[in-house]
Amino acid sequence: MDNSFFSLKQMNSFGVCVYSKQLLTIQNYKDLAELSALKSDNLFVLGEGSNTLFIDEQAPTIIHIMLKGIQVKELTDAYQVTVAAGENWHQLVDYCVKNKMYGLENLALIPGSVGAAPVQNIGAYGVEFADFCQSVTWYDFSTASENNFTKEECRFSYRSSIFKQQLKGKGIITKVTLLLPKVWQANLSYAGLGELPKKVSAAQVMAKVIALRKSKLPDPKSLPNAGSFFKNPIISQQEFNCLSEKYCSIPHYLQDDGRVKIAAAWLIDQAGLKGKRLGKVGVHINQALVLVNYQNGSGKDLLNLARYVQDKVFKKFTLKIEPEVRLISSTGEKTIEELEHG
Ligand code: NAP
Repeated sequence: MDNSFFSLKQMNSFGVCVYSKQLLTIQNYKDLAELSALKSDNLFVLGEGSNTLFIDEQAPTIIHIMLKGIQVKELTDAYQVTVAAGENWHQLVDYCVKNKMYGLENLALIPGSVGAAPVQNIGAYGVEFADFCQSVTWYDFSTASENNFTKEECRFSYRSSIFKQQLKGKGIITKVTLLLPKVWQANLSYAGLGELPKKVSAAQVMAKVIALRKSKLPDPKSLPNAGSFFKNPIISQQEFNCLSEKYCSIPHYLQDDGRVKIAAAWLIDQAGLKGKRLGKVGVHINQALVLVNYQNGSGKDLLNLARYVQDKVFKKFTLKIEPEVRLISSTGEKTIEELEHG
């Protein structure tokens, strides 16, 4: 690689060695205007790189969002919080709880930027981004202008949104607007939170979520990883009935639409892969949903491991688990299937 390439090793939590020829930092709206000249099919918007796997040694043009700022408007029943995409998600949660604006506490310690939160519709402990989203502001490369997407227009679903689907690579999120109702009720539906006292404060919920996450998840600074690598599969009731006949202890959660969510970590564990090492990379020893880069493995090493896990789980359960982590090749974001055939 010649010196005109930028190293992205410090900008992805897997710590993969990858270079980009162009790194464009967006710090203000003037920088945004300059983006319109770019070809939109070979670039990637990078937040904090905590949910990203770079597959090739070379990355596409990288757009790094550094837009900052938080504005709060007090409404009759709620606080309207508008946050620039380059703010850190956990710091936002902390800011809201400290300023007595509640609701986001279950989403504490999720790594990444505010701009990445709607793309993925981040979720944890029974709460997801969509629950508090009022709108998302989107800068469209083709028109060089900003549009506001209402919550409905964002088409949020389980760990997905219009920004991850139809609008992939076509623009960037510049800010989000959240609505945090003044009437607050703790969401203690998940195991680990249920043991909190009934009269619990949002700060206590947040502290508990932080403690749970720290006890279960490896810190990327000491063991490079990108949190949950796979999404929990959501299957039909019929498929679930077939599966539970054979595996009666399978952890499952009924969804509002009648489908059933299966814990992917359990599937991986049952396939005998918890702690499995493939060369420099492996499945985490305590949390099977997390793939770990132990010894400077490459993006391809991690992709091969992901395929290996996918394959073993499929052979045992005839269930396909899909990556939650975004896979970025030298020519842009790809699905695991596209990478197989490309
Ligand atoms: P866990 O308690 O071992 O449960 C395994 C899976 O079962 C979770 O992924 C969760 O799905 C689902 N689940 C558990 N209790 C549920 C309930 N009451 N209702 C519906 N679904 C339920 O999970 P964990 O690994 O410790 O994670 C705890 C939470 O932190 C989860 O919400 C998880 O998503 C979140 N988390 C996210 C990341 C990330 O990188 N995105 C990393 C670690 C943990 P859901 O994932 O759909 O909630």
